[in-house]
Amino acid sequence: TNVIRLASRPQGLPTAEQFQFDTLDLAVPAAGQVLLKTRYVSVDPYMRGRMNEGKSYVPPFVVGEPIAGGVVAEVIESQNEALPVGSVVVGNLPWQEFILSDGKGLNRIPADKAPVSYFLGLLGMPGLTAYFGLLDICQPKAGETVVVSGAAGAVGMIVGQLAKIQGARVIGTAGSDEKVAYLRQLGFDEAINYKTANIAEALAAAAPAGVDCYFDNVGGPITDAVYDLLNKHARIALCGQISSYNDTETPVGPRPEGKLLKTSSKLQGFIVSDYLSRWPEGVQKLTEWYGQGKLQTEETITEGFNQIPAAFLGLFKGENTGKALVKVS
Ligand code: NDP
Repeated sequence: TNVIRLASRPQGLPTAEQFQFDTLDLAVPAAGQVLLKTRYVSVDPYMRGRMNEGKSYVPPFVVGEPIAGGVVAEVIESQNEALPVGSVVVGNLPWQEFILSDGKGLNRIPADKAPVSYFLGLLGMPGLTAYFGLLDICQPKAGETVVVSGAAGAVGMIVGQLAKIQGARVIGTAGSDEKVAYLRQLGFDEAINYKTANIAEALAAAAPAGVDCYFDNVGGPITDAVYDLLNKHARIALCGQISSYNDTETPVGPRPEGKLLKTSSKLQGFIVSDYLSRWPEGVQKLTEWYGQGKLQTEETITEGFNQIPAAFLGLFKGENTGKALVKVS
């Protein structure tokens, strides 16, 4: 099978050089094993962190080994009763066209709920990140103002819609006029193109009553501007900082502590896996809202196994609207 390995650790923005295309011989499935055919590969910003050396909340990828992440695959040969041929599964799996697995850590996708790719987006890790980060940490109330950065991405687009379900006023920031138009169509009250607007002025105008909740996907200057608008007892869910993932030096900027102090605000970082024990609740609620037509989703699907690195790098250029995926078969 074809496989993509981590060739070397990147300095700054990764390039094609970091991805080594190779082949791998697979044995026939032994007792308990299944042979999987990859259908969709998820490319996610957190994978950039795993390309670095050093301790984090997930161990780094190993140089020379296959890169791995969220994958939807179909069982095409089975020696495992729990996973008959034809079942579709989602799991953390290597970037390979075919995968031999013992079935551990694989979750079967129900056939009738939604398109299978949604289990890498709305009904998977990004959807759950939005669900727990917004509802558990920010806890928006009706009439409050919620800002979400990276609003047109996999997590952000769900955050904004969940905040609308809670009755909040929602402001999103995103990197193009097309994305801004898309956010308005989704029901966001205000959407700002941070690449063309004066972000501080645009946010102040969009949030005349200040900001009660901030769901931070990006960090950097957008976050600095939001911190100037915090209301008393604001809640900030620190989900991601994509604007600095490729930095080679520690970013410096305004120090927000005084603003948090003066407003008695709460800032909490989180990793979606903190909520592992509550995933079934999250999936159930998201599925319910999706079924009721209260949640929409969008995917940017790139075709072809060879395009996985390009789709991954596209995340850092804002090429995706909604969930970035690669359709392999
Ligand atoms: P997205 O689908 O949002 O894709 C990334 C987007 O980030 C791009 O489309 C781009 O949109 C934006 N972006 C890229 N560079 C910059 C920049 N310099 N400044 C501002 N925006 C930028 O990814 P996800 O929804 O999967 O992830 C969103 C964030 O959430 C990431 O930071 C990720 O690491 C984090 N995350 C955290 C989790 C957790 O457990 N804490 C779990 C999952 C995700 P644009 O055109 O708007 O620039």
